[in-house]
Amino acid sequence: MIKIVIVGANHAGTAAANTILDNYKGVQVVIFDQNSNISYLGCGTALYVGRQIEDTDGLFYSSRELLEKKGAKVYLTTTVEDIDFDKKIVTAVNAEGREIQESYDKVILATGSAPIRPNLPGVDLGGVHFVKLFQDGSIIDKELDDPRVKRVATVGAGYIGVEIAEAIQRRGKESMLFELAPHCLGGYYDEPFTLEMDKVLKKGGIDLHYSEGLKAIKSEDGKKVSAVLTDKGEYPAEMVLLAIGFVPRTEVGNGKIELGAGNAFKVDLHQQTSIPDVYAVGDCATIFNNATKESDYIALATNAVRSGIVAGHNVCGTALKSAGVQGSNGICIYDYKMFSTGLSYDKAKAHGFKANFVDFEDYQKPEFVKADNGKVKLRIVYCNETRRILGAQMASYMDVSMGLHMFSLAIAKEFTINELPLLDIFFMPHFNKPFNYITMAGLLAK
Ligand SMILES: Cc1cc2nc3c(=O)[nH]c(=O)nc-3n(C[C@H](O)[C@H](O)[C@H](O)COP(=O)(O)OP(=O)(O)OC[C@H]3O[C@@H](n4cnc5c(N)ncnc54)[C@H](O)[C@@H]3O)c2cc1C
Repeated sequence: MIKIVIVGANHAGTAAANTILDNYKGVQVVIFDQNSNISYLGCGTALYVGRQIEDTDGLFYSSRELLEKKGAKVYLTTTVEDIDFDKKIVTAVNAEGREIQESYDKVILATGSAPIRPNLPGVDLGGVHFVKLFQDGSIIDKELDDPRVKRVATVGAGYIGVEIAEAIQRRGKESMLFELAPHCLGGYYDEPFTLEMDKVLKKGGIDLHYSEGLKAIKSEDGKKVSAVLTDKGEYPAEMVLLAIGFVPRTEVGNGKIELGAGNAFKVDLHQQTSIPDVYAVGDCATIFNNATKESDYIALATNAVRSGIVAGHNVCGTALKSAGVQGSNGICIYDYKMFSTGLSYDKAKAHGFKANFVDFEDYQKPEFVKADNGKVKLRIVYCNETRRILGAQMASYMDVSMGLHMFSLAIAKEFTINELPLLDIFFMPHFNKPFNYITMAGLLAK
């Protein structure tokens, strides 16, 4: 009987485990996770903290019990400390300090990512938190109940920072958002889109501090945070949330596995690392980017799940290749929705593409339809030489996310901007216009 050990059982590890347990008989699956819970949907943290959902119950879709019922052996609150890749033995230590060893035929590393911890004074003070685990969200939520917590400084205006800053404001606290860059969400969107989101944030009551770097977190009593100090000023705050990014967790590789983009475990399209019978998935691994045609680091739950499925089949003998990804993502702040896939214009240029873009903004439906209608902003980024679509960004109060998925497919299948004007897009006034914004953008592209 083949034995598979999975290290880490959040989204990537759980997807790999379920793939194996659901599809292959006679495979022994052993799972380790250092956390006490698994499969937590981190996107739920801001929703719960901001009271947009009632409780956290629905934020878990798997558990020790569910995996055990399918036949897995599960060790939770157990940290893998060493892997002997020659003898194929995993050594772990549980919460009571007991050492556990398991041999393997193949091992899947799904150790994920850790929040970046800035090397600044005051990071360890009470009231300073990261936004990653279910436990982080629970502590933040509990502390916000304290009426003495009036002002919260969120550092980092990427997805997680923007979402949690909104949640803090929704909770009735003064919400400040600090960011080194001149706008939010810069990694995913070009300026016309980030500026729209900034307007939405300001209108919602978030106090934006852009082009401003955190220098220290200060305390009056030496225990709890009382202010943040930046290169532009000092701001009183009773809570600080650090959301400045994530790094892949590769400690279990012990320097023996080759690293790639973003210092993650370098994997091929079968999720195999540089060591035979060692696979890596999710946030700890690289992933092939179909827009750049290069190995990349894109930490998203969707990528984690897909790579887990790919590894699950491969370790059981079914050769399955990853289809690569476009980094498709979305965000909804005060009901304003933005979606992007592939490369922004700025990123495309930085990658050396002779990039161009076309913008088009219009109502989703004909103006004579008054109900449930609104404007949609679209940018398509493409390569001037090959005409290949490299990316797309959309923004609206309408849910137009399905349109974004089409651009994701377009990038994956190397669709060109020249093909877009004649693409069969149906028309029906309940849904769109005959000359809809996608067709129009295609027609206008230079
Ligand atoms: C607040 C927040 C919101 C997010 N929102 C979205 C979203 O809306 N959409 C989206 O696609 N993505 C989102 N993400 C990103 C997404 O959560 C991650 O990409 C995803 O969690 C990656 O899954 P993973 O299983 O690879 O890694 P992780 O979730 O990091 O899990 C790794 C697991 O490995 C365990 N582990 C690590 N080292 C060891 C060890 N040595 N021994 C034993 N166990 C170990 C950890 O305990 C953990 O359970 C969000 C992330 C956060 C933090």
